[in-house]
Amino acid sequence: MSELMPNFNIDPPAKAQQHHAAALDFLDQHGIPPNPICYAIAYEYDAGRKPELNQEIESHLKRGRELDAHFLREFFNTHFLGQPDEKVGEHIADLHNLLYKVLEGVSGACSGAADFGKVLEAQTEELKGDVDMAGLKVIAGNLLTATNKAMTSNQAMRVQLETVEKDTSELKDQVKQLQDQASRDALTGLYNRHALSQKLDAIIELGASKEAPVSLLMVDIDHFKRFNDNFGHLIGDEVIRRVSMALQKGVRDVDVAARFGGEEFTVVLPDTGLAKAMEVAQKLHEAISKLVLVRRSTKEKLPGITVSMGASCLHPGDSRESLIERADQALYHAKESGRNRIVSEAEALVH
Ligand code: GH3
Ligand code: MG
Ligand code: MG
Repeated sequence: MSELMPNFNIDPPAKAQQHHAAALDFLDQHGIPPNPICYAIAYEYDAGRKPELNQEIESHLKRGRELDAHFLREFFNTHFLGQPDEKVGEHIADLHNLLYKVLEGVSGACSGAADFGKVLEAQTEELKGDVDMAGLKVIAGNLLTATNKAMTSNQAMRVQLETVEKDTSELKDQVKQLQDQASRDALTGLYNRHALSQKLDAIIELGASKEAPVSLLMVDIDHFKRFNDNFGHLIGDEVIRRVSMALQKGVRDVDVAARFGGEEFTVVLPDTGLAKAMEVAQKLHEAISKLVLVRRSTKEKLPGITVSMGASCLHPGDSRESLIERADQALYHAKESGRNRIVSEAEALVH
């Protein structure tokens, strides 16, 4: 990612002063240190040129989450160092070259066949005329030469087409690999937020059209800040990775496990009603509680990890946001009522 150039705007001095003052206010208000990354985010937030960035910050704050240097770093990676699509764009030139090679191969391979076709056509025309014995001999001779040539070039064509086939499948693999890379979170390998949005939209649409249930879980690590403070961010990162692996391992291939951001995750369960989703949540909850983390340097066993979860299911007319919002409300109830538990949207309504 470091080879990417961050995209900044150069404002005229008066405008820059205005955004500068607002950025410092913003950082101060949220108790965030004015390091270059946090400052850049705060500055752009005030400038409002990146609507998706502003939307993410606002939804983060609206959900009562604290903004800190960690989240701002994530925002920086996504909004300043390029969207996943842009990352794919960087490789387009390579793909172009490969595709060009494929097409060149195809046209090269086919030109031999085209020549043979032309000879056949010409000799057929000749046959329509008044051809004597000598003429027939010439035609037969021409056909024989053309056939021999075609047979040799056929051999060459086969070799060329084999190369084309190899290049094409390489092209397909590269596109797939890039698409996959762009939809994954770098730390955990789970789907990132961008991919989650796309997949969730598609699952909701399909669920609504065939009247199949869809459920969604929001998962948040309990007291993670404390974990980070006590053991450092690198171990914190490892915890995030281990929880991610447990989530990925505990769901089906058709389910979507994503990193929603920071230490929060989302699991989308197609063809799954709320009761079944609660069972899945229970299984995931147990798997995470059983994780054992050992500090490699000292062999010290770290305290167990717990998560809180909220579950929601698709209602008629639901959007991606409303489905997430209800799971989030349920998660909030799980936190409020003591953490380390799962609350469904139905239970959250009663509280
Ligand atoms: P709660 O039980 O209410 O969820 O408390 P919490 O401490 O888990 O929640 P809070 O939202 O207060 O803090 C989340 C912390 O997660 C703060 C932030 O520094 C940390 N964090 C976010 N992303 C990362 C990351 O990628 N790596 C590490 N190590 N920490 C992260
Ligand atoms: Mg948490
Ligand atoms: Mg959180």
